[in-house]
Amino acid sequence: MGRDRSCCACAVTECFALVDCNNFYASCERVFQPNLRGRPVVILSNNDGCVIARSNEAKALGIEMGAPWHQHKQPFEKQGVIVRSSNYTLYGNMSARVMKTLRQFSPNLEVYSIDEAFLSFDGFDGRMESHAREVRARVYQWTGIPVSIGIAPTKTLAKIANRAAKKNPASGGVQILMDSAEQEALLDQLKLEDVWGIAKRLSRRLGEIGITTPLQLRQADAPFIRERFGVVVERIVLELRGQSCLELDEVPSNRKSLVSSRSFGRSIHSLQEMREAVSTYASRACEKMRRQNLATANLIVFIETNPFRTQDQHYRASQSIQLPLASSDTGRITTAALSALDAVWKPGYSFKKAGVMLLDLVSATHVTSTLFDVPDSVSSQSRMKAMDALNRRFGRDTVILGSSGVKPKWSLRREMLSPCYSTDWRELVRVG
Ligand SMILES: [Mg+2]
Repeated sequence: MGRDRSCCACAVTECFALVDCNNFYASCERVFQPNLRGRPVVILSNNDGCVIARSNEAKALGIEMGAPWHQHKQPFEKQGVIVRSSNYTLYGNMSARVMKTLRQFSPNLEVYSIDEAFLSFDGFDGRMESHAREVRARVYQWTGIPVSIGIAPTKTLAKIANRAAKKNPASGGVQILMDSAEQEALLDQLKLEDVWGIAKRLSRRLGEIGITTPLQLRQADAPFIRERFGVVVERIVLELRGQSCLELDEVPSNRKSLVSSRSFGRSIHSLQEMREAVSTYASRACEKMRRQNLATANLIVFIETNPFRTQDQHYRASQSIQLPLASSDTGRITTAALSALDAVWKPGYSFKKAGVMLLDLVSATHVTSTLFDVPDSVSSQSRMKAMDALNRRFGRDTVILGSSGVKPKWSLRREMLSPCYSTDWRELVRVG
């Protein structure tokens, strides 16, 4: 959102709203088939392998994520469960409509995943709740997708508020968590793993020093936590206290999807330049994915003109594409992303933004081969590891694919960026 987030001692209370679509894939199916409302709906993965999304009614029946379809076909039929194959073109398109509606409420929008976005609610003070209810009503009216909204002074607390909005029907889909006593009461009821960025292993390590609830973590001694667990965990402590200081990328949570997308420094008109941009975003997304040892078989590429330039003609399009098997190889993912781009590219427009979404992330260690396709080879994995290590050490984009372009002109507007004196060889301070 373009604000300085490096300082943890915030003088002014910020306010974030996390808008999250309820049971997104199932809700998308329901928009065009209203007879599915109120009924248990499940969505299956590629080739109808297993359950990857469920409506509330399906969750209530005890249907688990990952349940293999061939084993559950008959019980599903008996229970009246409606089954749909995944339709990423539909989900990508519905996601774009939701985000477009949200953008009307705040240009300060961070799309976090296919069905989640953070909005700045700064300055709304007493009108926060009515504003949130308006957002919710408008998204439903314009897109047919129900959303839940959590509002809090930090992103981590906004996530928690959102969860509460979903779990508690009395909230009517909006939960405000600005008050310190209310934050404490809610944090006391949750498990550590319910907190954004805390995975099982970290929660176990925290348990070893007697921290077993998010409330205890909030009350822990921050310098001690930093010394023992590092700066990322210390920031979670501060965020739980209501001090906003967490960058999105710094939260390694168990995510289901991720997005790499930015506005360009200047408009793009040629396919060649757009290929470079999409290629770069695909690489960045793959890097993020590999950091969490994840892989994907589903991606969506989108391109758009600037919706705020009324004098221009507008075009926004997205294309989904599936790989035969989940992969985290930058080469494979980029090739797929570029073919998706070719399918939506239209000349004659001024493009301002593009992005790559990786969906339905799965653990990279559990990808098994099929008759025709094999997972990423060991040599591909070690090549990727080497590439990530070099980029970490010498700065982003030290090693890139040829398709990303050398010194691209479209790249992000980063005029305000200070040199990376300490992390980039090319920007070392010169003496003499
Ligand atoms: Mg959701």
